Amino acid sequence: MSKEERLKWLTDEVNKHNKNYYVYDNPTISDAEYDALYYELVDLEKELGYSLPSSPTSRVGDEVLEGFKKKKHEIPLYSLNKVKDFADLNKWIDDMNKLTGKQQQFSIEYKYDGLKVVIEYNNGKYVSATTRGNGTIGEDVTSQVKTIKSVPLTIPFKSRLIVQGECMMTNKSFKEYNKTAEIPLKNPRNGVAGAVRNLDPKETEKRKLDFFCYDVLLIENEKISTQTEMHNFIINQGFKTGDYFKLTTTGEQAKQEIEYIDKIKDKLDVMIDGMVIKVDNCLVRDEIGYTNKFPKWAMAFKFKAVELSTTLLDVIWQVGRTGKITPIAVLEPIELSGATVSRATLNNTQDIERKQVKINSRVFVRRSNEVIPEVMGIAEHTEEEKTIVPPTFCPSCGSQLKTIGANLFCVNHKHCYEQIIDRLTHFVSRDAFNIEGLSEKTLQLFYQKFNIAYPYELYTITEEMLKGLDGFKEKKIHNIIESIAKSKNVEWQNFIFALGILNIGKKSAFILSKRYKTLQELMQADINSLIAIDDVGEIVANSIVEYFKDEENINNIQKLFSLGITINNATELTTHSTFTNKTIVLTGTLNNYTRPELTKILQNFGANVTSSVSKNTDFVIVGEDAGSKLDKARALNIRLIYEPELVNLLNENG
Ligand SMILES: [Zn+2]
Repeated sequence: MSKEERLKWLTDEVNKHNKNYYVYDNPTISDAEYDALYYELVDLEKELGYSLPSSPTSRVGDEVLEGFKKKKHEIPLYSLNKVKDFADLNKWIDDMNKLTGKQQQFSIEYKYDGLKVVIEYNNGKYVSATTRGNGTIGEDVTSQVKTIKSVPLTIPFKSRLIVQGECMMTNKSFKEYNKTAEIPLKNPRNGVAGAVRNLDPKETEKRKLDFFCYDVLLIENEKISTQTEMHNFIINQGFKTGDYFKLTTTGEQAKQEIEYIDKIKDKLDVMIDGMVIKVDNCLVRDEIGYTNKFPKWAMAFKFKAVELSTTLLDVIWQVGRTGKITPIAVLEPIELSGATVSRATLNNTQDIERKQVKINSRVFVRRSNEVIPEVMGIAEHTEEEKTIVPPTFCPSCGSQLKTIGANLFCVNHKHCYEQIIDRLTHFVSRDAFNIEGLSEKTLQLFYQKFNIAYPYELYTITEEMLKGLDGFKEKKIHNIIESIAKSKNVEWQNFIFALGILNIGKKSAFILSKRYKTLQELMQADINSLIAIDDVGEIVANSIVEYFKDEENINNIQKLFSLGITINNATELTTHSTFTNKTIVLTGTLNNYTRPELTKILQNFGANVTSSVSKNTDFVIVGEDAGSKLDKARALNIRLIYEPELVNLLNENG
């Protein structure tokens, strides 16, 4: 192979691996191997003094641009009309059917909440990119968008093509970026706008954006007759499309789809703010026509907002079970995802400083399904602002606070009222020792009357003691005594969670319970072996090590055992799991797990989770809307596991 041929080969090879990584999420070589190819190409281009137009090294230029050039859109971009509820959506679907005189099919796709961009290709090559702007005139962002790895620089289609899509920052890139950013981004959406509309393309590249393509605006020498065809065409050109595309004929089906996505949207790696429904048949679209602003054949259904701005009225400092002091923002109440929100966490004092929020600032507040509302950052400074001053003494017990890492702590574990009650509440909760009948009020009473401050002391409670309490009738006493007794044999993962170690939630407890089979093992785990576990970072690892270093904690654990607590270890089962040493592929959407979650769970059982089906695959786990992997698995006669069976197997094994 001549050097020129080698250059061509390297260009194609690196582009191929880029696509595998950034578009298909399926790398087939290691990062080191990729780097070796990439830098060989860089050197060879330097040596030969030229590079091919499609060269991956050309994605980022050295030039900082002087300003944004305005650019007129060849095809004006329409906005979408919106429906406000399902009744409206039904009516629109009926109207479309009536207007065309027959029942239409409708496509349903995500409505991305990023930055709209139009990209032009000619002769199979990337030509230019333009922001949406006002729909008629946008800004030239050709160099910026070129740095986005999921934008193909070459495509198989050789005539002119103009596509529309959305530049997005995935949650993963957002978190990564904020880890080291001097000024943290408020949300992934702001991250995108600032990155694409940046005069330095190197900045764009740093944000690691993605591009999701969903529309063909212009295509020469080829006809596309349905949205489905368009979707497939886009995929075949090597664009990323997100993995959701559905067809429906009735309003009821559309409603089910939209409600389902609304429920799981927080688990997606990209922000979507609704769904887009279009008449699938492009040929009847012209018949249906346009208003001044919108195509009549498309409709957006917006989800209720999850992030809004409001005024931060005050900050209160809450004392948690470990003594950690958490600043809680008191907000002017707002409606968020169907609930009234008047409190939100500010995490810790360092976070307050980073986010630059003050009392009387307008702030962004975010609420997701499973997470408590959080103040995301400043929306607007006001003149009445006052700096948030962290306390020096514990708001519950008055003792001097200590700064440990980013947090303030009350170390008066023995006599700090809020700490004690939170500690006991945590211990009796469902995912811990699951002691029924012990409400927060009852625990407060136990502390006041019997000085019960540590969980083990709950096991010293007798029937005699309870008989003297107000409102404690025979039946109630009996139930409490019984549920305390019943809780004495506890599952291993619940035991870990119940310890109340700082930063250890239910999920971490589960992961630890799989990795360490006994308390002894967990207590002896060092930082390095803890960090080696997926999903366990330095902070969590440190919390665990610190916890077991503390003699008081060890004492309290021993007291639990001396009062008859036993742990139900699942040791035997785990090592003989159905999944141990098996090669497993996941396909389709599952109801109970996200893919990353399930991957971790299976890995913890010792499975090898891979992304493509081959004859070496042992099982394929099949969710809804499984695609080509399912076909391949059937062809190779590989065992298929559907969700109900999966849930059973995991329950048996765990
Ligand atoms: Zn205190």
